[in-house]
Amino acid sequence: MQAGYLDHLKTVLAEIEAAGLMKRERQITSPQGGSIAVAGPAGPRQMVNLCANNYLGLADHPEIAQAASDALTRYGFGMASVRFICGTLDLHRELEHATARYLEKDDAILFAACFDANGGLFETLLTEDDAIISDSLNHASIIDGVRLSKARRYRYQTSDIDDLETQLKQSIEDGARFRLVVTDGVFSMDGHIANLPEICALAEQYGALVAVDDCHATGHLGAGGRGTPTLTGAGARVDILTGTFGKTLGGAMGGFIAGPQPVIDLLRQRARPYLFSNALAPAVAAGSLKAIEIAEKADDRRERLMHHTSRFRSGLSRAGFELLPGQTPIIPVMLGEASLAQDLAAALDKRGVYVAGFFYPVVPRGRARIRTQMSAALEDKDIDFAIGAFAEAGKELGII
Ligand SMILES: *Cc1c(COP(=O)(O)O)cnc(C)c1O
Repeated sequence: MQAGYLDHLKTVLAEIEAAGLMKRERQITSPQGGSIAVAGPAGPRQMVNLCANNYLGLADHPEIAQAASDALTRYGFGMASVRFICGTLDLHRELEHATARYLEKDDAILFAACFDANGGLFETLLTEDDAIISDSLNHASIIDGVRLSKARRYRYQTSDIDDLETQLKQSIEDGARFRLVVTDGVFSMDGHIANLPEICALAEQYGALVAVDDCHATGHLGAGGRGTPTLTGAGARVDILTGTFGKTLGGAMGGFIAGPQPVIDLLRQRARPYLFSNALAPAVAAGSLKAIEIAEKADDRRERLMHHTSRFRSGLSRAGFELLPGQTPIIPVMLGEASLAQDLAAALDKRGVYVAGFFYPVVPRGRARIRTQMSAALEDKDIDFAIGAFAEAGKELGII
């Protein structure tokens, strides 16, 4: 490769390093869980894990692993085809039906990831005659998906209902034919929940559709884990849901869109990440199917998750940390500068607590944080241990 170009890349990398923004991956040598083994120079160390999206602790659930293993034996490893050529198993349709039934929608369509689901949604459903009104804090995959569509774009300040109304009015003034409001159900970096009843009411008033990306809610929030529409009471007023099997629902991979039949039917014809990308592996489909079955009945796990959430939240507050308020199992510890988030993560690592610092470009500059996430896989003693470690490390670094 051209030396000049490689030098350019090295300069960019050096800038990232100098700004304290370099991300480094630690290696886990055990299954994902509340307690994990992490590779180190002196061999693996056991750590309390506070940063997986493993809300219900299903990532290493034996029945899910067994279902995946059975599918591996029965169907083999892969499909080597997109869905519409020769990649559709009975299992894929079963998973689509189960997802739709679980989320109380007509039908669902699978994608390799929710990133792809969001990549295919907008371009398929909306044209240059239409408008998309998007929350400013929406996930990167929504931002990219919106960019891929030719629809007119409007952005409202996160969760600002007045601004949403302003943008809706503007889209009407600009002559848009159809309007779609899109929001994360739970904002993953802050942990707050979208005000879906008010969003839906405005959408109804201004004749807009509503799509919710419920990746950080499906499986663990709301009755039966049906997510933010159920939790907030917006229910069926949310027209379209996108979600993932890579978080609460087993944590493997795969995404979906659930909604009215014609929406799903058109996506199957036109969504590019669906048409031009391989079918989900049979083991992943079977494991995710089992994960839905378990999640739906897992009130005990949801209760443990919420118990840990309030215990950890109050423990950290009492220790003097600045937290973002909220009621989800995402608990961001606000630190400001990226380097401080890195230093605290390193100090916690030394003490056997696995967390990750989040900083630009994942969150705005100067808003660096450690995003902790609770899991039903954690035990009370893990929570207490983690609170103790935070308090010690926070004092050491002069944060508290
Ligand atoms: C995690 C996440 C995604 C991406 O899901 P994948 O299935 O991992 O691609 C999309 N949207 C939101 C809000 C997420 O939190």
